Amino acid sequence: MFALHALQTGTGEALEPPAWQALARCSNGTGSMLELFFSEQIDDINSAKAFCLECPVREPCLEGAVARREPWGVWGGQLFLNGKVLPQKRKRGRPPKVRAEVLSDVADAPTAQTA
Ligand code: SF4
Repeated sequence: MFALHALQTGTGEALEPPAWQALARCSNGTGSMLELFFSEQIDDINSAKAFCLECPVREPCLEGAVARREPWGVWGGQLFLNGKVLPQKRKRGRPPKVRAEVLSDVADAPTAQTA
């Protein structure tokens, strides 16, 4: 997320943004996309990732986020957590003990007929 890059440097130094940031699709100057790119909601995260897919500077954005070990948010089409790319955000809570396809098989299985 381009809009926070200057804040994410964390050194207190005023850094010149890289030239590619002028082309960042998420940078509209209002900060209106921050909630989308730093949301905890899976739908929002997926929307932010999809938004990045059409960004002309996705590659340098992602490389920069990896180099800075971004602590959180969608950058370059990937979700970061604690400096690492998460393949997929999971819903809160424990995963089910029985996989959904197993439950589906059980539901489709013939039941005993009572006559
Ligand atoms: S790749 Fe995504 S986060 Fe990076 S500048 Fe483009 S729109 Fe923004």
